[in-house]
Amino acid sequence: MPFNKLGLSKSVLDGVKAMGWTDPSPIQLRAIPLLLEGTDVIGSAQTGTGKTAAFVLPIISQLSKNSGKSRVLILEPTRELASQVETAVRDYARFTGHTVAVIYGGVGYGKQVDALKSGVDIIVATPGRLLDLMQQGNAKLGDISHVVLDEADRMLDMGFLPDVRRILDKCPKDRVTALFSATIPPAIETLIQWAMKDPETIEIGMRRSPADTIKHVIYPVAEKQKNELLFELLQRVDYDSVIIFCRTKYGADRIGAELKRQNHAVAILHSNRTQSDREKSLRGFRDGKFEVLVATDIASRGLDITNVSHVVNYDVPQHPEDYVHRIGRTGRAETTGDAFTLMVAEDVQHVDAVERFIGRPIERTKLDDFKYTYTTILDEKRFKGVSVRDRKMKTARIGKGQHFGFGGRRRR
Ligand code: AMP
Repeated sequence: MPFNKLGLSKSVLDGVKAMGWTDPSPIQLRAIPLLLEGTDVIGSAQTGTGKTAAFVLPIISQLSKNSGKSRVLILEPTRELASQVETAVRDYARFTGHTVAVIYGGVGYGKQVDALKSGVDIIVATPGRLLDLMQQGNAKLGDISHVVLDEADRMLDMGFLPDVRRILDKCPKDRVTALFSATIPPAIETLIQWAMKDPETIEIGMRRSPADTIKHVIYPVAEKQKNELLFELLQRVDYDSVIIFCRTKYGADRIGAELKRQNHAVAILHSNRTQSDREKSLRGFRDGKFEVLVATDIASRGLDITNVSHVVNYDVPQHPEDYVHRIGRTGRAETTGDAFTLMVAEDVQHVDAVERFIGRPIERTKLDDFKYTYTTILDEKRFKGVSVRDRKMKTARIGKGQHFGFGGRRRR
């Protein structure tokens, strides 16, 4: 079914056309009609499926403009996601004339207070700062007609649920509520019962499986050779842009510093960095200024970073669902991508958990001509003899006076 049969307003459809989208994605097909008729929605879909437009388009389609009162509240777990969703709302609402403000901590209050006082139509916020502003009397939610709780399980993990409840308590009861969450643990179930009215659940595809366009491989390696293998992989692989996930902030700093020393253009993203550093890293990575982003799991959920050709799990994720989120950074919107995971002996259990979670084994491989130090996991029976494409990196490394001009290439 094409977009124009879904009941969206003309100015929203003009926006969709300007985005160059031809057909709605499966979650959009299901969620848009429900939200248009005012039904509460619980949605789960793989990352990169068009989830944001699935809730933004129907909501702005019905929303009157510039009433001087905020009517839509979208809650996000992290500043990065809030800022990304704000940008998406601006894009999708480019012909509707709605106003939007983003509210998050780590930056000054002035601009945010002004935006709230002017009565922006749509607020995209992280819970902590919004609650602050509510307590100061600067954010009033008495006219909210639509609430979206995005990445609800992540908000739970980050300890935001009590704040979310306090915020919802101040929103009118006769609102429409949409909740998006990869998993529905008991605490979210309780929130659903408390905060939603007869919600419809939409589950798109297998919520556990990463996109089919991604090729996954595991590189077993001895602990002390992890760095060496990572650096060798980056030398050999023909990548456009790569995200390296580390378990700890310290690890991300350490790997980032070493890659910089090797003349890679590197950005680092984790929660100990200042907000302005985090924004600079993300923007630079998106724009192609940095070829490598070294990050903790703060970057694994929901961030819409396009053209990531490779994801490398320097550390195996501790929670199997984080594997799917991390890998979701590549292969987005049907481009292809490769996902490499380095595995040391003590990761075996975590890798098993990931394989059980995604419902299939992940191929083991070795790097040709790499001088491996022996470790028992190199004896595993699951090798298929695949070797990484041994192509030279294009312009990925920068030498003195050289320009790093890659990026923007979409591989089909
Ligand atoms: P999201 O899952 O909301 O983060 O969206 C992932 C990416 O898909 C974003 O870059 C969107 O701009 C893009 N997208 C969303 N809906 C569509 C669609 N119907 N057709 C093509 N691309 C889309």
